[in-house]
Amino acid sequence: MRIESEIKLDFKDVLIRPKRSTLTSRKEVNLKRTYTFKHSRRTFDGIPVIASNMDSVGTLAMAQSLTPFKALVALHKFYKVEELVEFFTNHPKCLPHALISTGITDDDYSKLKDALKREELHDIMGICIDAANGYTEAFVEFVRKARETFPQMTIIAGNVVTGEMVEELLLSGADIVKAGIGPGSVCTTRIMTGVGYPQLSAIIECADAAHGLSGHLIGDGGCTIPGDLAKAFGGGADFVMLGGMLAGHEQCEGKIVEQSGQKRMVFYGMSSDTAMKKYAGEVADYRASEGRTVSVPFRGNVADTFKEILGGLRSSCTYVGARSLKELPKRTTFIRVTQQLNEVFVNS
Ligand code: 5GP
Repeated sequence: MRIESEIKLDFKDVLIRPKRSTLTSRKEVNLKRTYTFKHSRRTFDGIPVIASNMDSVGTLAMAQSLTPFKALVALHKFYKVEELVEFFTNHPKCLPHALISTGITDDDYSKLKDALKREELHDIMGICIDAANGYTEAFVEFVRKARETFPQMTIIAGNVVTGEMVEELLLSGADIVKAGIGPGSVCTTRIMTGVGYPQLSAIIECADAAHGLSGHLIGDGGCTIPGDLAKAFGGGADFVMLGGMLAGHEQCEGKIVEQSGQKRMVFYGMSSDTAMKKYAGEVADYRASEGRTVSVPFRGNVADTFKEILGGLRSSCTYVGARSLKELPKRTTFIRVTQQLNEVFVNS
């Protein structure tokens, strides 16, 4: 047994120190980023915010709504290949803003190969190889196999929370690594297993490791208010992935319920009982659910929420004098705080 005593931080443990600025309006702030990826050599040009591949958030309707912002959607892995082909044939503009998600079973691999064989999907932005635990040998092996089979495809792999595993995944063929174990709004991993890592420190340490090898990093989970995105980007994340902040909208595939006269939408973790029963028919004897099922207020069109999130981010940049999102980490000084932010943007 070993104890690491260095303090690790969550978003709520810090604030961003304001800095002198020559900007006169938040309108001047450019939130677009352009990245060229390590292995695929493909380029991304847009707003680096990704809707999570949870089945109610990573939807085709979400792709249609976020494409005009040049933001991204990681489509959930339960769409059939034919559904994807039909959608992208009718909405080719969404292709560079969408990711196909996959698990790491043999069936997942065959489905991925079938999908990427289709000419209609060739220009998809990339593949998101997703496992709750990105530390297993089987996961690394899948990433290696995917890189060999799809040399020109941008590959995202995760989730991990430590630098050495970011390096391993990048060296095994990932272009972008996804960081976050346990911070999600409907995740109970920390409760059920005691495993996790404070998300801001995970981002800072993993981004440093990724950038050292010319890779990129996604901060996945734990953002509940727009200021958290600013902290994630300020800490070095190249992309931020959102679940709960985008849940409860028209574009989500969630069941509408009414509670005390209020319209709400069901939202659940992908390892919750609800998801396991829906997709596997049952929760296997040997495993416990690591996700919650909740309902969130129904909030209408996601475009309005997304504009509000981007408004917050632009304002953060203005406060520290960053003309662009690219400048934000260079101009970020975090101050540790003892008083925690209580306000929650959603899910109350
Ligand atoms: P949020 O933005 O809601 O805080 O976090 C979204 C992220 O939580 C997802 O992208 C995914 O990484 C993670 N997540 C989704 N469902 C579950 C779950 O059931 N259990 C765990 N441990 N994590 C989940």
